[in-house]
Amino acid sequence: MAKIKIDLSGKVAKPQVVVGIDLGTTNSLVAWVNPVSKQAEVISDELGALVPSVIGLLPGGEARVGVLAKGGLITEPERTIFSVKRLLGRSYKDIVNYQAYLGYRIIDEDNDSMVKIEVDGKYYNPIELSAIILKAVKVKAENALNAEVNQAVVTVPAYFNDAQRQATRDAGKLAGLEILRIVNEPTAASLSYGLGLDRDEVHTVLVYDLGGGTFDVSVLQIEDGVFDVLATKGDTALGGDDIDRSVMRHWQQLHPALQGVTAAGDIQRLRLVAEEAKIALSKDPQQIFVCEFTLLDGSAVSLTLDYTGLEAAAKEVLQKTQDCIAAALRDASLKPENIDAVVMVGGSTRYPQIKTLLESQFPHVSVNDTLNPDEVVALGAAIEADVLAGNRKDILLLDVTPLSLGIETAGGLMDVLIPRNNKIPCKVGREYTTSIDGQVNLKISVYQGERELVAQNRKLGEFILKGIPAMPAGFPKIEVAFALDADGLLKVSAKELRSGVAQQIDIKPQYGLTDDQVEAMLLAGFQHAQEDVAARLHQEAINEGQQLVYLAERFIEKNANLLNENEMEGTKQRIFTLSCLLAERGDKDSILAAVTELNDYTRPFAERLMDVAVSAALKGKEI
Ligand code: AMP
Repeated sequence: MAKIKIDLSGKVAKPQVVVGIDLGTTNSLVAWVNPVSKQAEVISDELGALVPSVIGLLPGGEARVGVLAKGGLITEPERTIFSVKRLLGRSYKDIVNYQAYLGYRIIDEDNDSMVKIEVDGKYYNPIELSAIILKAVKVKAENALNAEVNQAVVTVPAYFNDAQRQATRDAGKLAGLEILRIVNEPTAASLSYGLGLDRDEVHTVLVYDLGGGTFDVSVLQIEDGVFDVLATKGDTALGGDDIDRSVMRHWQQLHPALQGVTAAGDIQRLRLVAEEAKIALSKDPQQIFVCEFTLLDGSAVSLTLDYTGLEAAAKEVLQKTQDCIAAALRDASLKPENIDAVVMVGGSTRYPQIKTLLESQFPHVSVNDTLNPDEVVALGAAIEADVLAGNRKDILLLDVTPLSLGIETAGGLMDVLIPRNNKIPCKVGREYTTSIDGQVNLKISVYQGERELVAQNRKLGEFILKGIPAMPAGFPKIEVAFALDADGLLKVSAKELRSGVAQQIDIKPQYGLTDDQVEAMLLAGFQHAQEDVAARLHQEAINEGQQLVYLAERFIEKNANLLNENEMEGTKQRIFTLSCLLAERGDKDSILAAVTELNDYTRPFAERLMDVAVSAALKGKEI
């Protein structure tokens, strides 16, 4: 609903609109609930509704997003970033096998921090890159609606972990958006069909999401307006593209002239014809698709396909999705007859055979397919945003936490365990470790608020987990758990999992807080969001630098015999450069460049140490 704001000068300010954003791997979409029609609608401009999730980072540091950046995938791959969503909340180790598909440079780091991408000496992490996309989507909506967009619901896959969700939240903040809630994509898809809006209804929903390159199936339990993901299964390399390739193979088998095509141009064009055939037959199964295909060498072949041929080509993909459905049902301990609604998502669900298959597997329910399968996630997000903004008087809001709850981590950063607007009751756990060798105590300080640095939030309490057995830094596994009950009582516990040492406190976060104070804290969080996230990213770079200096110093102290004089000098110099930058709190890019430099320089020495250790271990063994 658009609220008209009158500013102090008496002028009518632009209306404020809340939106839902489907932040996709390939494309992103933004939607809102039109206050006149009361219907969710995707927001479109002269470039259409879909915003390709592609960023072109220009030499001057500016960014181009979407359709305007797509051309760069071929002409300037090193500065054209795509598939950011696959990197979000992931470390280098997580994505090392995927790197070959990316044309841009990912920094090779031997730690658990989020991957970084380097373009022209500037370092970007996936949060900043996602923020660029979200910002473009926000501006698109603002221009199309002639309104201000400051609040949004953003969707994520159901399998996203805590770090990936937090990263998405941070990206929103950096883009100047207050993230009202992070919602699972299958939840949003269900909402777009109205499932879960009525709190008296109970549903068990299966959401089938088949896109171009990925497949996800989720089973949701909806009760009292709460969506629980009972199971989720998927394949990150299964989709409509596989059907196209299968059609291509079918033609290659029929036409020897096509078997030897190696010219990239021919293969690409053949793939596009295969996709065209698939889409044409999906729209009209009675027709026979015919195409005269001319190869680059001038020879021509007549390609045909009918619906039976398409069915044969798609069989394997459909079978694999069936296997995932069976596995998801098994995980959820459910039988097909327990499912009372099926929702289809993703462009490939337009292939009619999928609906036929789902109807035969779930004969007692009608499959929800009336909305555009590319839009359902964004539409559902818009509906959720509208509800959270309080625009739907017919819908009761669930009890939620008014402010985020978290603990202090290195460098005075706020690590949020329970984000604001999270439903109550809830329980969250996260693992931490020590940063110094032999550390036996760990202080857990609990804070409330929306700022990135704890100094600007409200302290709720603290305790010290004592008696952690002395271990090298990074070894202890300390689980901190927050449990917020229906009465608003927060139990914070910490446990070192190797030794079992534990400690806990109870806190009443809302005690002594007035509504006005909550409002003021929210406002401060929102007003400072962008600078706060920038400060957090800077502090994280400093933390990373400090940790590396600590490790590198210890390394040369213990393994002086592995390094010759030059190498020792080179290492010390690089440690010194980085230490100076840290001492003066240099800018983020300079620190990260010095971190990369020290890491790259010392990597061969670490490998040498491994070789020594391995040969020592082998010597001790009888073969
Ligand atoms: P998405 O990743 O959700 O955008 O889905 C893209 C996939 O949907 C591509 O593989 C398209 O070929 C496929 N697709 C789009 N329209 C149709 C259609 N009418 N029939 C079958 N597949 C389609």
